[in-house]
Amino acid sequence: MVLKIVKYPEPVLQQPGEPVTEFDEDLRKLVADMFETMYASQGIGLAAPQVGVSRRVTVIDISQGKDPAQKLVLINPEVISNQGKQYEEEGCLSFPEIREKVSRAAKVRIRAQDEKGKWFEMDGEELLSRAFQHEIDHLDGILFIFRMSALKRNLNLRKIRKMQSEGDW
Ligand SMILES: [Zn+2]
Repeated sequence: MVLKIVKYPEPVLQQPGEPVTEFDEDLRKLVADMFETMYASQGIGLAAPQVGVSRRVTVIDISQGKDPAQKLVLINPEVISNQGKQYEEEGCLSFPEIREKVSRAAKVRIRAQDEKGKWFEMDGEELLSRAFQHEIDHLDGILFIFRMSALKRNLNLRKIRKMQSEGDW
């Protein structure tokens, strides 16, 4: 089922998600719906707060459905180490039409649980590293506009207000 993606400034996007403790059928249904929703919007990552669910769940697929081996489910994920810097353009399904360069770590190692609750560690670099950081930020209630410089953040907030007033947001 394709879920509705909430947009900034929906409050659920700015609050930390609750840790997942039950690895049950409800969780698997949420994950399946999140993949469906992400693919329907041509995204490479989606966090549960973006579909109005304040839980520490995110799905990532940087192949956008082209390579099943790249489908990732991260439950209760955290960054455990990072290295270097990258500065590349980023977007977010909760900020349609907003794209901006954001500074991130070049490489990260994360730990997370899978759908069955099993912990694993994984390394990511370049786009995957960026997706890990962007999605884990969502689970902490941190949005990518708050990773931009104040100047760019204000420009984008103004653009959003203009779209809102014109009914395009
Ligand atoms: Zn996002």
